[in-house]
Amino acid sequence: MSLRLERLVPAHLRSLAPYVPGRPAEDVAREHGLERVVKLASNENPLGPSPRALRAVAGALAELGRYPDGAGRGLRAALAGRLGVEPERIALGNGSNEIITLLARLFVGAGEEAVVSEGAFAIYRLAVQAAGGVVRSVPMRGFVHDLEAMARAVGPATRLVFVGNPNNPTGTIFRRPEWERFLARIPDDVVVVCDEAYAEFVEDPDYPDAIREPDRHPLLVVVRTFSKAYGLAGLRVGYALAAADVIDLLDRIRDPFNVNALAQAAARAALEDAEHLERSRSAVRAGRRFLERVFGELGLAFVPGEANFLMVDVGDGGRVAAGLERRGVIVRPIAGYGFPRHVRITVGTPEENGALARALALELGIEPRADFVQEPLERAAP
Ligand SMILES: *Cc1c(COP(=O)(O)O)cnc(C)c1O
Repeated sequence: MSLRLERLVPAHLRSLAPYVPGRPAEDVAREHGLERVVKLASNENPLGPSPRALRAVAGALAELGRYPDGAGRGLRAALAGRLGVEPERIALGNGSNEIITLLARLFVGAGEEAVVSEGAFAIYRLAVQAAGGVVRSVPMRGFVHDLEAMARAVGPATRLVFVGNPNNPTGTIFRRPEWERFLARIPDDVVVVCDEAYAEFVEDPDYPDAIREPDRHPLLVVVRTFSKAYGLAGLRVGYALAAADVIDLLDRIRDPFNVNALAQAAARAALEDAEHLERSRSAVRAGRRFLERVFGELGLAFVPGEANFLMVDVGDGGRVAAGLERRGVIVRPIAGYGFPRHVRITVGTPEENGALARALALELGIEPRADFVQEPLERAAP
């Protein structure tokens, strides 16, 4: 970097390490001369978006010459109705990623601290560093957020705590009793951000489902997204639920038209399509069960997760991920999260899961079993 840039740009921005996303299928296909590549690296919905969302996008195309509704009124009203809260308690973001970034910018000033779990979503850390804040990392306990240790790590300089439930990349959740004990220990003037990007996939009856109880802490912000269960990752739309005065502050610092018109139209329609959501959930459940059986038969230990991905111990995550790529399957190496032995594998369609199972066996030098084929998903009623 030139001296000129070094003088212009503060050190906390110059030293940011860019987020490493899952590799696009076209890149991998080109690099290895492959015809077909299966991408199971970014936790996208195996079924894609609801057909109703796609029709809404098509319907909105004619109005693309106009700015979108900067306040996102229609979508906020629809979400508010669903959650049983006033629209003033909901903020929209260009993906929930933007909301996470805005929360860090809003609450964590230069030299102030945010508490984060060591094996948590990398974006929390990046957002805090970009805001000039300091990240205080707390080790996990057995692939799960150690909420007790996180509460203990809150000190006088702490402004915010990030928790992911389920967490990415581990897929693990914390349960209601730990969550309530945790919140009881967090001072009223510390913000708690609960990221529920994968909430729709959770089956555990003790899941706290923080979005249903946003008043358990005065400064609780619950963040959700349309990228995962609703299959709209490419359009970028997420939302936060919090006290109206926190939402008002988010509105002041966000860009005026942060959620584009197609995204708003698609998200509204997606919310209406309960059947597609249910189909997505059951596809993920069936795929997860299939992958768990395959891992068992390959003698691989996996982390029991509640999201649409699984983290599995393959011995050397980087090497196995590279080998799988050459065989046309992209998974996510997660050494950067402190898990060098594991890869993270998104649950795909039955065909994709089968392809992964066979490629993984071959990569490990094991003959794939004849039953490494997932049954087709039940056809939805017409
Ligand atoms: C995927 C993901 C998000 C959502 O990102 P978007 O910006 O809404 O696409 C947020 N948090 C976690 C933990 C995720 O894995």
